[in-house]
Amino acid sequence: MSLLALFDPSLLGRAAHPAVEFDTPDGTRELTFGDLERRSNQLARALLARGLARGDRLAVFLANCIEIVDLWLACAKLGAIVVPMNVLYREREVDHIVGDAEPRAVVTTAAQSGVLPAGAAWWDVGELARDASTQDASRPEGAGESTADTPIALVYTSGTTGAAKGAILTHGNFFANARAICDAWRITAAERFLCVLPLFHVHGLGNGIHAWLASGCHMKLVERFDAFLIDTWFRDYRPTLFFGVPTIYVRLLELPESRAREIGAHMRLFVSGSAPLPAHVHEAFRLRYGLVILERYGMTETLMNAGNPLDGERRAGTVGLPMPGVRIRIVTEQGDDCEPGTSGELWVRGANVCAGYWKRPDATAAASAGGWFRTGDIGVRSTDGYLTLEGRKSDLIISGGFNIYPREIEELLAELPGVREAAVVGMPDAVRGE
Ligand code: AMP
Repeated sequence: MSLLALFDPSLLGRAAHPAVEFDTPDGTRELTFGDLERRSNQLARALLARGLARGDRLAVFLANCIEIVDLWLACAKLGAIVVPMNVLYREREVDHIVGDAEPRAVVTTAAQSGVLPAGAAWWDVGELARDASTQDASRPEGAGESTADTPIALVYTSGTTGAAKGAILTHGNFFANARAICDAWRITAAERFLCVLPLFHVHGLGNGIHAWLASGCHMKLVERFDAFLIDTWFRDYRPTLFFGVPTIYVRLLELPESRAREIGAHMRLFVSGSAPLPAHVHEAFRLRYGLVILERYGMTETLMNAGNPLDGERRAGTVGLPMPGVRIRIVTEQGDDCEPGTSGELWVRGANVCAGYWKRPDATAAASAGGWFRTGDIGVRSTDGYLTLEGRKSDLIISGGFNIYPREIEELLAELPGVREAAVVGMPDAVRGE
């Protein structure tokens, strides 16, 4: 099942409805779902004209902008594979990803292109948009041909094993995830969604963009979270739905009490994930905003695994219960199921689990066990089924929701003159988590 089957009720069925707004130097711009449909058709044709074919990778190295949405939809229509790259990455990470994914080209800006390896093909995002504007706006041939198994993204992630691996995410993975979160969190076309998360990560892309496109609601897309602008965005846009990482919720506690109450009055749902939300932040937020944050747990390879219930108890310090369609086991080193109250590794199964790692059959095999995906996360289940995460089997620092792999920094430090060995550990931090 192509992702278009999920998006069509919005792209075609709600063509005349306002879909998204974003700020430009000339003021706020708004597009309808019909505009998005036409823009992505035109872009798909421009990409075809540049030689992008089904199965080709197209890397995207951009800060949040509407063109990422156009590229995502165009690639969904073409059966091409998007490789989102963190805009903060520098030569070392970019070299690895471009070398490994072998994209047909990297879509970026002239300013960012300097980070790319010498000789890498890159397309200027502005030129591409100008090319697209002269193309026919009808769907390119074969647009609906992708199936649930067709890959649509390679998203790079790593444990402590050194180089990042590309998780192969399919149309079916994003489809299942979008359905699960829209059902579980009752996201409808009536929502106003403020999107501040980076679209190069599955939190912003898999949850944010997909909840929006699947529900046909309205989204305000901003370049990045900004602690100084967030109050203005909340006041002017009056969202009902917000996805954040714990660091963002810590910053939101700094808003004046009166503003927090006003925001709490028009907001419906705050969701937190990507890193542990401290129980004291959960409680402080409830007191200040009058709303209980819904904490959930996911990862690049599996999208959403578990979440606290919308209607039931949202228990601080836990990631709740398995998402609809997802099964979770907690197992011992020997692979036996743990009793409630006993810690073990979380294994996940469902249509959300990725198709493996790009060109890494060894890592793919190591992460699977008889149809289950081994998350590497350690956790425990309470007698009434709530899951609590306790850490990772391998050490990973999560700072402000971003993964920092100690091994990568250790390797860099060890290259400095006079350094023989380096060890990097996370330190608890009140704002960034670690
Ligand atoms: P990423 O692949 O970058 O999304 O990182 C996934 C990892 O983030 C998971 O394997 C967990 O270790 C961690 N993570 C995600 N959500 C939570 C959460 N709510 N609480 C604690 N850790 C989380």
